Amino acid sequence: MPDKHYKQIVILSGKGGTGKTTVATALSEIAEAKVVIDTDVDAANMHLVFDYYINSEYDYYGGKKAEINPNKCSQCGMCELVCRFDAIKEFKVSRTSCEGCGFCFRVCPDDAISFYESKSGVYSACELEDQSKFYYAQLLAGEGNSGKLVSEIKKKAYEQVKENVKWIIIDGPPGIGCPVNASLSGVDFVVIVTEPTQSGLHDLKRLINLLEIFKIPSGVIINKYDINTDMSNSIEKFIRPEGISLLAKISFDKKFIKAIQNSKTIIEYDHAYIDTFKTIWNDIQKVILN
Ligand code: SF4
Ligand code: SF4
Repeated sequence: MPDKHYKQIVILSGKGGTGKTTVATALSEIAEAKVVIDTDVDAANMHLVFDYYINSEYDYYGGKKAEINPNKCSQCGMCELVCRFDAIKEFKVSRTSCEGCGFCFRVCPDDAISFYESKSGVYSACELEDQSKFYYAQLLAGEGNSGKLVSEIKKKAYEQVKENVKWIIIDGPPGIGCPVNASLSGVDFVVIVTEPTQSGLHDLKRLINLLEIFKIPSGVIINKYDINTDMSNSIEKFIRPEGISLLAKISFDKKFIKAIQNSKTIIEYDHAYIDTFKTIWNDIQKVILN
């Protein structure tokens, strides 16, 4: 990790579809001297909103897969019997089902099984219109190990970060799994985007429990707060004693979807949102820089 002349902010949500990327792209647009990373590698979509061009593309190898050498295989059937992932049929290994556990290799009497590095995804180093660096990655269909890809794309971004960069803004993966843990390493502040629903509150609690383990300060944005003001109040009541700031309550607005459909950030699509996100950005800076 290079010397930290920058602060890192990750935008998370307990699940997908809460408006996380809308918030991440809007804050990215407002921040200056930044690097932007989309670590939602299972469903990357910042690149659908930004104008950018690709500087470099990299293959990502997430793990090993088994393969059977038909010239050595005596077709005893042992490998198919022991494979818990049903990846072997008629003495051939399915690339998408194989988890690389190595069990088949251990039982093969003919030394007919070997392993190869399998390409699991790609990631791209790009440049935005204002010449900020932007990174995003995509797993190939059926591939796992997205946490490792999140770490890899962040590592690539750190390697190329310039001295004048002050902010790294990360669109995180949804949920609380391994990719989220990977997105949190080295982060100074987490913006949690939630919705006023029972499941939104449940997911928020799980996320806050996770952040307590990492000891990272956070703030909450309640998106679509007016679809259920009672639940919105419950969320506010929950976060207050936890010492978590309420960054904003945003009304339900179809423009959020329309902006993405038109490949624009919400503040490009509707300039009335510039003040909303500038205020959020200023509040985040106050917490981090104090
Ligand atoms: S490495 Fe594991 S998952 Fe892959 S084929 Fe062998 S036993 Fe099945
Ligand atoms: S265990 Fe080895 S020899 Fe037996 S079927 Fe599988 S690859 Fe062929």
